[in-house]
Amino acid sequence: MTLNTTDRIGRAEPNARQEVVVRCPATGDIVGRVPVSAPDEVKAVADRLRAAQPAWQQIGVAGRAKWLGKWRDWMLDHRDEVLTPLQLETGKSWGDTGIEIAAVQIINYWIDKAAEFLADESVRPYGAANAAKKLTIVYEPYQLVGVITPWNGPLSVPLLDVPAALMAGCAVLSKPSEIAPLGWQVAVDGWKQIGAPDVPDTVHGFGETGSALVDVVDYVMFTGSTNTGRRIAVAAAERLIPCSLELGGKDAMIVCADADIDRAVDAAVWGGFVYSGQVCISVERIYVEEPVYDEFVNKLVAKTSALRQGMDAGHDYSCEVGSLTTAQQLRIVSRHVDDAVAKGAKVLVGGKAPDASSGFFYPPTVLVDVDHDMDCMREETFGLTLPVMKVRDVAEAIEKANDSDLGLAGSVWTRDKDKANTIARQLNTGTVNINNVITGLLQFGVPMPGWKESGLGSRSGGADGIRKYCRQKSIVAERVAMKKELLWYPYSRKKGSFTEKVVRMLSAKDWRRRLGR
Ligand code: NAD
Repeated sequence: MTLNTTDRIGRAEPNARQEVVVRCPATGDIVGRVPVSAPDEVKAVADRLRAAQPAWQQIGVAGRAKWLGKWRDWMLDHRDEVLTPLQLETGKSWGDTGIEIAAVQIINYWIDKAAEFLADESVRPYGAANAAKKLTIVYEPYQLVGVITPWNGPLSVPLLDVPAALMAGCAVLSKPSEIAPLGWQVAVDGWKQIGAPDVPDTVHGFGETGSALVDVVDYVMFTGSTNTGRRIAVAAAERLIPCSLELGGKDAMIVCADADIDRAVDAAVWGGFVYSGQVCISVERIYVEEPVYDEFVNKLVAKTSALRQGMDAGHDYSCEVGSLTTAQQLRIVSRHVDDAVAKGAKVLVGGKAPDASSGFFYPPTVLVDVDHDMDCMREETFGLTLPVMKVRDVAEAIEKANDSDLGLAGSVWTRDKDKANTIARQLNTGTVNINNVITGLLQFGVPMPGWKESGLGSRSGGADGIRKYCRQKSIVAERVAMKKELLWYPYSRKKGSFTEKVVRMLSAKDWRRRLGR
């Protein structure tokens, strides 16, 4: 296939040299190229990483922490080198781009916690019959973990998963999205520049490369769309390897009548439009209790109208909202707005894409008079819309929030802490933020599970977040080894009746059964 240089459909395209040609969604300019890895090349990289993994495991948590710390420092020192291509490949504002590097803090979390989480665990044996056993759980890393990521957080999303797997002692083969591979490649180059062991690397390409990666790793950590996630789960099942899937969301924001409306509005605007709405846990729909609906909507419209849109390539923080990253996202956002309007919704601000020749910009859009017959309230938009619905009461808000196939996260806004907790427990999502948005993502001690079609397994979550990259081994030892065990051969009438009595004595909870009466 050859590259059509006038192509503005926004999907990255392979050219005759089998490269991914990366274009800036804000300008249409070509901003970089990476080679497409064919399946045999993916296998070769995997073999190389596997060969280096035993030594990586051998150097222990402290040895691995030293290298991860150097990598964190390298990224902080080379911030603009990593972020500049990342801005160009995504069309983000420079402010949004800067958020990407905040994810390096997860490296510190695993550096600080890995020794504790990976330490052998002693388990007290259960029951008198096992009293003489010494039980230990040992965590041994999978040799090679595959990390497949989407384009919306080209640095932050791999950083949410790669450091945990590396600290666990695994080698890691990553594949960033073909839409935005450049920033991550710079970060991986940074690992090489610090002279660290050859245990992470990255391959590039489209679905075929991702699929080849699934064929050669021992564990797949996937972040992306629900459709691709389903395919990955099937492929992993065929190989009987574990996978963890972080997929799409349709996060609801519930604003109660007693909420701090100014804070809720600011959060809605940032939570809905940060990364141009292209965050799995961005605010996708808002339910506001009747008494404060008008105030909330008026303030939301005012704040949204004040947003400055553009890609500030001069890094001067002169814009809040960048462009959408793909033409597909532009199409979805336009379709959701048009569908809503056709079914009776009103656009209060935004609502019309400028000429496509000016990049994949769509204005931040507030929709009202929406209902659940509209696509904007049911499908993941992953874009610049905030549909707001008036609800009678909290019960209706909860019912509407739960009326979704997706269940990633959501938020509740009220000054009443007890009410907030009661509502949080009734929402069918993996995370609920109270009086904030998105922030659950950066709380590494709690898991980020996707309920329903939003995922399988979870990331972060304290010990679970690193132990998932390990196989558990149970070591069951005799503290005192007798000559023979009661259950061993040979069987005899006398031994059988004695065993029966012992089982009764140890298992029954009442004296009639213990004594066999
Ligand atoms: P996508 O599913 O199209 O692609 C994700 C990755 O999978 C890319 O690297 C792609 O090349 C690769 N891929 C495609 N087909 C494959 C196959 N058959 N086998 C293996 N790999 C394959 O998703 P996207 O459009 O890049 O990302 C947007 C989606 O990601 C949204 O739905 C968003 O909600 C979701 N997302 C979820 C989270 C989360 O933590 N839950 C975070 C960010 C994004």
